[in-house]
Amino acid sequence: MGLLSHLDLLNKYGAPEKEAGMILWDVPTYLEIGAIPKRLYCSKAMVMPLTRAFEALIKSGSVNELKTFDGCFNIRNKRNGGTPSLHSWGVAIDINAAWNRMGQKPTMPMSVVACFTGAGFDWGGDWSRPDGMHFQLSKKTFEELK
Ligand SMILES: [Zn+2]
Repeated sequence: MGLLSHLDLLNKYGAPEKEAGMILWDVPTYLEIGAIPKRLYCSKAMVMPLTRAFEALIKSGSVNELKTFDGCFNIRNKRNGGTPSLHSWGVAIDINAAWNRMGQKPTMPMSVVACFTGAGFDWGGDWSRPDGMHFQLSKKTFEELK
């Protein structure tokens, strides 16, 4: 299955400016991770997958590897093209950006990557032009949530 695309999001939620399906998620106390805001403005579709990812980070002792939160909802085009970024619908999250710039060799610990990919995300660090800070909902996860 390919990557989730902006067309999938357009079909389900319409233009990003509508902010359809967005939620100010009050992150449960047991899932609070230092770098992550206690309230996260994101797509409703992110709540279960992020819950699973945060649980995995805590369980695996990788919480301290998550150094910085660098954004979720942000209406903009992809840096390398003219199509809207999935951040425009709040279904992607950037972390540890300072050490994982787009186009550079990612330094994201594989333990962290595994927590997110195991919870239903695709990792930008795997792409031909790596975006190591970036995790986005997988198409499979998105389809299952419909
Ligand atoms: Zn991103």
